[in-house]
Amino acid sequence: MKEMAEKKLKFSFLLNFIFFLGASSVYAFPLSLHSNPEEIEIVSIEKNPISLAILTSTPEPLDFIMETESRIYLVAKPQDLNFLLSSGLIFRLETPFFAPARPSKEMSLTSGGNGIYHSYNELIADLKKLAEKFPSLCRLEDLGRSLEGRQILALKISDNVNLNEPEPGFLFLGCHHAREWISVEVPLYLGLYLVENYALNPRVQNLVNEAQIWIIPLVNPDGLEYSIKFYRYWRKNRRLNSDGSFGVDLNRNYGFNWGIDNRGSSPNPASETYRGMAPFSEPETRAVRDLFSNYQFQALISYHSYSQIILFPWGFTVTPADKYQLLFNLAKRMSDLMASVHGRRYDFGQASTMLYLTNGDTTDWAYGTRGIPAFTIELPPVDIFHGGFFNSERDIQPIFEENLAAALDLIQWGIDNYKFAESETKRKEKNLIPLIIQRERKIK
Ligand SMILES: [Zn+2]
Repeated sequence: MKEMAEKKLKFSFLLNFIFFLGASSVYAFPLSLHSNPEEIEIVSIEKNPISLAILTSTPEPLDFIMETESRIYLVAKPQDLNFLLSSGLIFRLETPFFAPARPSKEMSLTSGGNGIYHSYNELIADLKKLAEKFPSLCRLEDLGRSLEGRQILALKISDNVNLNEPEPGFLFLGCHHAREWISVEVPLYLGLYLVENYALNPRVQNLVNEAQIWIIPLVNPDGLEYSIKFYRYWRKNRRLNSDGSFGVDLNRNYGFNWGIDNRGSSPNPASETYRGMAPFSEPETRAVRDLFSNYQFQALISYHSYSQIILFPWGFTVTPADKYQLLFNLAKRMSDLMASVHGRRYDFGQASTMLYLTNGDTTDWAYGTRGIPAFTIELPPVDIFHGGFFNSERDIQPIFEENLAAALDLIQWGIDNYKFAESETKRKEKNLIPLIIQRERKIK
């Protein structure tokens, strides 16, 4: 499953059926012993009532990548191919037309077909360059290693960046899901923008002075590398699971209501939404957790793609969150600001009702454990007809620009909120004194 607004799909009823029926069904088909990427194919199926009916009966939700007026395209693992064959559905093999879904002969482990999008090495190099050039404004913190030993780096931006000042914190996360390449670029560009414009732009200077801004552009480095070099549609991390399949869905591995049901995440290791063996079983989510527990964060944004939509908790239930109105107002403000930049409007709302049920995701955990506003921003495009996971290189800048407006506003809100809370505390402390004196007088 992609992070996408099915309600915008023309046959959203199909996907709804899949999400509601699929994950809770018994696994009727034998799973392949190996989820070897070499065995994964892109197939397309003619869209008609019969094929839709059959596709709704899969034991696991299918991994749709796009659709046209007449055909549905999906990622088919061996078990999916078995299912399609046994059900008598005629499908067309599309893998060759979806390069670089698998490595070409020219593509080696050190090159990739990702253009100006950042690979792991390119990202690390750019972050280091920035930290070396602006040592008083930003620094890199090594949060630990991924399963395959890559660094998970956070960029901290603040004045007096080496001190932990009593300032509100903000956390921006990218690329939990490997194939969502644009979600690395947006938080990275945000970091570059804040640092490079500090001396030029009083508004930026003010925000950076009064806040501690943390950016983790790449939560899932192993997955991203795999997506660039071997398999463009890879989503999860690269955990070798007990059944021989690979990957835990990092955005189902957080420890708040983890695995509360099998609709919002899957217990099946081969599933695209496999939640892992336990909450925070993955080093990548533990890296985020450990940073989060060390600072007073006021707000969080986790970038994903695609759907052009702003989501807030809850994801695990359709019941509204306690602070629903605040979350709604902030999301609306961000959406309005985004639209003011290039005219592109992001829809917004509660995750479970706008998209589908999720459990163990980042924002439920951040809101559920700290009560802070936490948003998943599904970056453009709006749907599969506009490219799905494929943004062109020239999309990066405008998508960043509209998200910059929203991020700056959220930081400003957090600073104001923090100051207000501080002044309220002081006011209450002041008011408390006369009250106590009054009481003592009465007693006397
Ligand atoms: Zn995602």
